[in-house]
Amino acid sequence: MLDLSADKAIRTDSESSPETRMWGVRDDGPVAARPAPLVDPFGRAITYLRISVTDRCDFRCAYCMSEEMQFLPKRDLLSLEELDRLCGVFVERGVRKLRITGGEPLVRRDIMQLFRRLSRHLGSGALDELTLTTNGSQLARFAPELADLGIRRVNVSLDTLDPQKFKAITRRGDLSVVLAGIEAARNAGIKVKINAVALKGVNEHELPDMIRWAHGLDMDMTLIEVMPLGEIEGDRTDQFLPLSVAREGLAEHFTLTPLAHRTGGPARYVKVEETGGQLGFITPLTHNFCEGCNRVRLTCTGQLYLCLGQEDSADLRAPLRASSDDGPVRQAVIDAIARKPKGHDFVIERARPAASPRHMSVTGG
Ligand code: SAM
Ligand code: SF4
Repeated sequence: MLDLSADKAIRTDSESSPETRMWGVRDDGPVAARPAPLVDPFGRAITYLRISVTDRCDFRCAYCMSEEMQFLPKRDLLSLEELDRLCGVFVERGVRKLRITGGEPLVRRDIMQLFRRLSRHLGSGALDELTLTTNGSQLARFAPELADLGIRRVNVSLDTLDPQKFKAITRRGDLSVVLAGIEAARNAGIKVKINAVALKGVNEHELPDMIRWAHGLDMDMTLIEVMPLGEIEGDRTDQFLPLSVAREGLAEHFTLTPLAHRTGGPARYVKVEETGGQLGFITPLTHNFCEGCNRVRLTCTGQLYLCLGQEDSADLRAPLRASSDDGPVRQAVIDAIARKPKGHDFVIERARPAASPRHMSVTGG
């Protein structure tokens, strides 16, 4: 049993109650309207939950999935009601931000029902942000309703502006559909951020143009390093472009001024002086970003992963289904957070299998 209440620095912006600052205590039911966040054994407040609502996708991005993916049987997935219930437990325990992801979240049937249900936490003030990460293929259809429900920002993954390259990377996507989705989101008043995976020899020389395009439309952009998650056909070392190298290349085009801005995640930001826009670098392989980690990830089958790069997880589906009372699942969440590891140990090298057998589409990117 770990007691963190005494003298460890707890990174949280709200007052911690004795209950949530002490691990191993039984959970006695609902807490006050704005509870102190759950705090892990390293003093990190867990305020951010990412939820993968499906492992399925209408694309097969070469770095993410294999061409012939074996998807989970539908019966293994949490229902939308169960996802809503679980999210409610986290919100009740101080999570302030929910990100819906996948797979492709907007291809899950009736997904807007979940957004509708979760938006009540925005209305009550329990949640600061409800957002999603999407490949953009369905955004044109859903953007107006998402905006109505209070979604203010969305991350759209887009690795190239070249239609042929886009088809080659995603294996089945249509660039024009994604661009229309981005436009629809912007027209609905949703702020779009573009996430691009930096791919050696694929988009590396296109990055300056993509940055000019994104910033020209007032969209921030973030570059992501390829992570060794899940088996794919090729070898990821062929795709791996260290962002330190990408950044050196960009510095020949732009003046990059580091910003202090942090999100509790693996991104570091610079201002691109020539465009006035913001550029993020997500470098889990070359930098240790774990000390400020504020997040955990829920899979579509109800596994809670405490760290993107570690295998330890907690099954929340069993306690959720065992009782209509939230007590058991609440306790399972508390027990899981008490096991959150200090950090990950990704290494990208020619060794196989992948460092983590889970595809990003299962854990949620
Ligand atoms: N389908 C949605 C999308 O593409 O935005 C959401 C899920 S996707 C798994 C989330 C993010 O993870 C995307 O930006 C994608 O580029 C990124 N991603 C997927 N596999 C990755 C990998 N092996 N390494 C780094 N990023 C990866
Ligand atoms: Fe689908 Fe997103 Fe993975 Fe691409 S990165 S295959 S869009 S889940």
